[in-house]
Amino acid sequence: MGKYKIVYERDVCIGAASCVAVAPMVWELDKENKAVLKGGNKTDDPNIFEKEIDEKDLQLNLDAARACPVNAIHIIEKETGKKLI
Ligand code: SF4
Repeated sequence: MGKYKIVYERDVCIGAASCVAVAPMVWELDKENKAVLKGGNKTDDPNIFEKEIDEKDLQLNLDAARACPVNAIHIIEKETGKKLI
């Protein structure tokens, strides 16, 4: 179980691909030019995907989230529910 989770809002994504440039092992673009969170899980909301990550992967994922121009990527500390971005 990861300590953090990535929360991705697909409907907010504009396909700028900054996340893909920063973390290509985590993100790719689909045919609609929307980011895909690799290995991400669907949620009750069809536009929201989540993926757990470990501490060692936190910095890279924070960098990718910060690179997103429309703030479609969030990172939550699971234990506290604190939103890091
Ligand atoms: S950086 Fe943001 S807007 Fe650009 S592809 Fe990634 S999620 Fe979408």
